[in-house]
This record gives sequence, structure tokens and C-alpha cells, in this order.
Amino acid sequence: MSSYETATRYFEQAANVMGISPNMRKLLRTPQREVKVQVALEMDDGQVETFIGYRVQHDNARGPMKGGLRFHPEVDADEVLALATLMTWKTAIVNIPYGGAKGGISINPRDLSPGELERVTRKFVDEIHDIIGPDKDIPAPDMGTGPQEMAWIMNQYGKYHGYNPACVTGKPVELHGADGRNEATGRGVAILTKALLDRYMAPIKEARVAIQGFGNVGSFAASFLHDMGARVVAISDVSGGIYNPEGLDIPALLKYQSANGSVQDFPETEPMNNAELLAADVEVLIPAAIGNVLTGENAGAVRAKFVIEAANNPTTPEADEIFHEREIIVLPDVLANAGGVTVSYFEWVQNRQHFRWDLQRVRDELDRIMIDSFEKVLTIAREKHIPLRVAAYILGIGRVGRATVLGGI
Ligand code: GLU
Repeated sequence: MSSYETATRYFEQAANVMGISPNMRKLLRTPQREVKVQVALEMDDGQVETFIGYRVQHDNARGPMKGGLRFHPEVDADEVLALATLMTWKTAIVNIPYGGAKGGISINPRDLSPGELERVTRKFVDEIHDIIGPDKDIPAPDMGTGPQEMAWIMNQYGKYHGYNPACVTGKPVELHGADGRNEATGRGVAILTKALLDRYMAPIKEARVAIQGFGNVGSFAASFLHDMGARVVAISDVSGGIYNPEGLDIPALLKYQSANGSVQDFPETEPMNNAELLAADVEVLIPAAIGNVLTGENAGAVRAKFVIEAANNPTTPEADEIFHEREIIVLPDVLANAGGVTVSYFEWVQNRQHFRWDLQRVRDELDRIMIDSFEKVLTIAREKHIPLRVAAYILGIGRVGRATVLGGI
């Protein structure tokens, strides 16, 4: 099943409960604009390479479109469309005044030098600058991109349209970025993991956690969960996983990873492969890497009671069904990882007002929005006896649908 088919399946589950008409479903599902551009790049050795860049603008009923830019070899039109749709529901679920978009370039950033990365990012902006902007569509980091790429986007956009830092979020703090943006997705994941466990009387201090992925999201989620007293026992990155049933020393692991480039061979741990990590003996499993990792094949082996979707689209509908039957609670991506785009919103607000918030204010506002959205989703789930994902979609789709009708077609 393609990523877009998965996204559509989840949309339809909620639309069925809501009783939305076929015509309205089609209107809400159909993207406003899908752009595919050539990104030609002169490599350091003088060769010319040609890549494909995408930007999909799914919906703007509630405000300018918003979503990350992914640099990954598996980026394609289907995945970007699926992720753009998720952004529409995500921004609506946390009730920030945006629609949804997503972009990407099918490249492996690890294969590119810093100079090549800069040129490919600027070239992409050359191709799409007319369709993005602070009131149109605001890019941000996603897998394979970070503050440096956002700084290049801001600079290149400015060459066409003049100085306007609100044209992109996730920028370095030295260049109009928001304090707390880098940690925001991982912080939101940790805050909601604790909130979910509290609801089910499972104290965070007794929880054992396995995290797939130790990039921006996984590493900050691990840090915050560790600070909250959870025992993070298993972690993997692209080169493999590590396990210690007594719990990993996360601050030491972060230092180790930045010195060694991976978590491999961290002292006092056993190696653990990907399949073992997903089936680890833990209470909480957090996929925080790529999509489609929990499938019909491996969902039966998951031993966790809670799956927190820090990644986008990590669970296929087959796996989702199995989790539901096995009474494993899934906190869906559109809510679990919404902390990133929420602090992107704070950054955009600060840029527009030329007024900087301190870290405490960012964290307080983020925690409030995450908990408030979580409570709303939980209430819908309890009232209608439906899984959290369906409830989250109902909240998001309802808001987008009402804005669409009120604004007029
Ligand atoms: N890429 C992140 C996401 O999937 C953040 C998007 C943003 O900050 O606009 O939610």
C-alpha cells in the first residue's frame, strides 16, 4: 500500500464516523497544487547531477500552508502528497492557523558535501520561490534537513522577495530561529507520552521505552523522557541498535553519538537489530525514524502497550488493525509529533512581530497546546468509543471542513 493510500485509509475511517458526503470527502482529500521541479546541480567534481524536487500544497482553508522539506533518497510524489495531507490534519488538530504542505528532494544528504547541499537547497528555492512565502506556504525542517538548510532558504528567498524571515521556520537561533524549535518535536512526544501513561495509570517512572531513531526527534524525546524518570532501554540509529535492560544513560549516549557518529558499541549495552527493537520487552515503543516500519508482518510481535508515533506514517493500516485488536494504544503521528510545527508557528509569530520569546515561554506555550489538543482527542475517543487516531482525524477534519464551508468554495 502506498503512503498516500495509507493516509487516505485513515482519512476515510474518520470520514465514515463523521458521515461526510462523498463530494465533500473528495474536496478535502484533493491537493490544491502539486509541483515537481528539476533540481540540476553542479557537483564538486564538475559533473552535473539532476535531482527531482517536490512541493505539494494540500489545503489552505485555515491559513497559509505549512510543512517540512525532506531530503531523502526515497522521497517521491506519492510520499510527499501523503505527508502534505497529514500536515493539514496536524495543524488543525493543534489548532494553529495553517493548512498543510510538504516538500522534498530525492537525494541522500549524506552523499553531498556542505557546498553541494547549499547549492541544491538554493536551486530548489529558485524553482519554487513564487509559490512559497510567509502568507502562502512556509517550509520547515523534516528528515534530512535542519537549521542550516532553513538559513539558506531564507537567504535565497530574500534575493527574490526581499528580507522576510517568516518565509521559513526552523532557522538557526542566530538567524531569527526560535529558542526551543530544535527540541520541540521530541519534547512534544515526551510530554504526550507522559500524559497518555498518566491516563492509563502507568507511571512514567516505571515505564521502559524503546526508540527507533536517534535523530532530531528520537534524541530529544529520549532526553526528555529520561529527565522525566522513564527507563529508555533500547535505541537504534541508521547503523543498528543497542539495548540495556537497566536503562541507558541518555546524556552520556548523546555525547558518545556526537563523538562517534552513531550509538553502536556504547559501553554496557548489547547490540539489538531493528526487528528485535520493535519487539522489545517494554511498555512504550516510539518509532521516530522513517515511515511504514510497523506492518502486518511485525505488529503481532510488538510487546509494548503504547505506541507513540514520533515519525510520520510509521504504522500501516494492517498494523493499526492488529494493534487495535490487541488493545495496544497508538498515539497517532498527527498529534504525537505536532510539537515541531507548533513551535514553527511560534517562530513565525515572533518573526512577524520582531519580538523574541525566551525558551521558558516557548516550552510553556508548547506544553499547553499539546496537552489541550491531547485532552480534546481523548474526549472524542471516549465519547465515540474509537481509537485515538480516528478521534484525532475527526478533530482535524472537522476544523478544516468547517473552515472550508465558512470561507466558501
Ligand atoms: N516536518 C515537521 C512535521 O512533519 C515540522 C513541520 C513544520 O515545522 O512546519 O511536522
